[in-house]
Amino acid sequence: MDMPTTQVENLDLFVNARLQFERAQSWIDDLKEGVIDFLINPQRTLHVCFPIHMDDGSIQTFHGFRVLHNSVRGPGKGGIRYHPNVSEAEVTALAAFMTWKTAVVDIPFGGGKGGVICNPKELSRTELRQITRRFVTALGDAIGPHTDIPAPDVYTDQQTMAWIYDTFDMMHPGENNLAVVTGKPLEMGGSLGRDQATARGSLYATQELLKRGIIPDLQSVEGARVAVQGYGNAGAIAAHLFHEAGARIVAVSDSSGGICSDSGLDPDRVLAHKDETGSVVGFPHSTAISNEELLAYECDILIPAALECQIRADNADKVRTKLIVEAANGPLTMAADEILQANNVFVLPDIVANAGGVVVSYFEWVQNLENQKWDLEKVETRLNKRMTNAVDETVDCWNALNEKHSSSDNRKRSAPTLRDAALVTAINRVATVVLQRDIWP
Ligand code: NAD
Repeated sequence: MDMPTTQVENLDLFVNARLQFERAQSWIDDLKEGVIDFLINPQRTLHVCFPIHMDDGSIQTFHGFRVLHNSVRGPGKGGIRYHPNVSEAEVTALAAFMTWKTAVVDIPFGGGKGGVICNPKELSRTELRQITRRFVTALGDAIGPHTDIPAPDVYTDQQTMAWIYDTFDMMHPGENNLAVVTGKPLEMGGSLGRDQATARGSLYATQELLKRGIIPDLQSVEGARVAVQGYGNAGAIAAHLFHEAGARIVAVSDSSGGICSDSGLDPDRVLAHKDETGSVVGFPHSTAISNEELLAYECDILIPAALECQIRADNADKVRTKLIVEAANGPLTMAADEILQANNVFVLPDIVANAGGVVVSYFEWVQNLENQKWDLEKVETRLNKRMTNAVDETVDCWNALNEKHSSSDNRKRSAPTLRDAALVTAINRVATVVLQRDIWP
């Protein structure tokens, strides 16, 4: 089958997720049509609406979604976001990413995602608490420790997870319900290491990828020049950990703009400056740059850790790095992928690069079910093993696809990317279980 080509740039996450799937799936010879259909479509989509008594005495109705994309390998797993742009299509795309992410790091979960259309910046804490409680009540038994397990996402946090747990626990008294949600406060069954897990996973994955020696002139994080877009949970902690591992952080940014310094920035002092002033911009002895300039900054490793669709057809050609580590979900469009591939820029895809968060969420779930509390060393050692395995399997698959590509029949299509390889690994893993389960009576 010929690989689909992307002529026109499309910034819709849902469309990009679908194109990525189709491109990867075209490398798998024996995937049956019916299975492909099942893997593309969500298993279940819930759209709920509920009224809330607002602080000013008015009543407002809110709409929320929970999509279970696939649960053949285990209960759904994925965050809940509160944002004005939440839509069924966006939640569906993000739920599909979770199916492939949990499969590629081989944890026994499927993919889920949820969201409520609201603007948390304009809502009081009481209103947010009420929205959370009503949303969880409306979802009923669609979520549960063995069916679908939420986690924090954009504008939801540990407190939101505590409210979700409490509401669900009131609906199911007398049971151990801690495992219904992850990303909880430490005192309420949260796991040590969860706050750093995404960035730490990105570091472990990058270290293993570089060890495999597939990226010319880049064998180690030590001494590498690193630029980071986004200075929140994923970005600021990645800057800290990459710096600790010996990298030089040459540029960072947030929504207000960026800063650079060829002699290197101290990520902890940059964070202290951001905490004090609200932005990384204005950090002493740095030069101000725009976010577009950051993405084009000459470096060895570029870490997009902010939003989706940041590197696109219109700016991918300007990127001057050897490796992109996708700490954010969906920061590159399909068109960007193709341009970067032509320019010999490697991309460690999001489903591997930022999977550390869901891996430690899985550890939290296991600890909750077993009434255990692991120490930090155990969490980090196990995270390292999962991330290293996922990278090794992705690189092994990439090597196998390259061999396939060099056969005469395949030379006309573009060579495989690491994203293709990670998705092929994940799709094969899910498809195998679909077929195994189907032979049951
Ligand atoms: P966050 O809200 O903590 O941080 C986001 C950062 O991006 C902020 O510093 C913000 O100022 C910056 N930003 C916003 N718009 C920007 C722009 N236009 N240009 C540059 N910077 C901009 O969010 P986070 O948790 O760090 O998540 C960031 C990305 O990582 C998201 O795509 C998220 O889905 C992904 N991710 C996060 C986790 C996690 O555990 N936090 C796990 C997996 C994936």
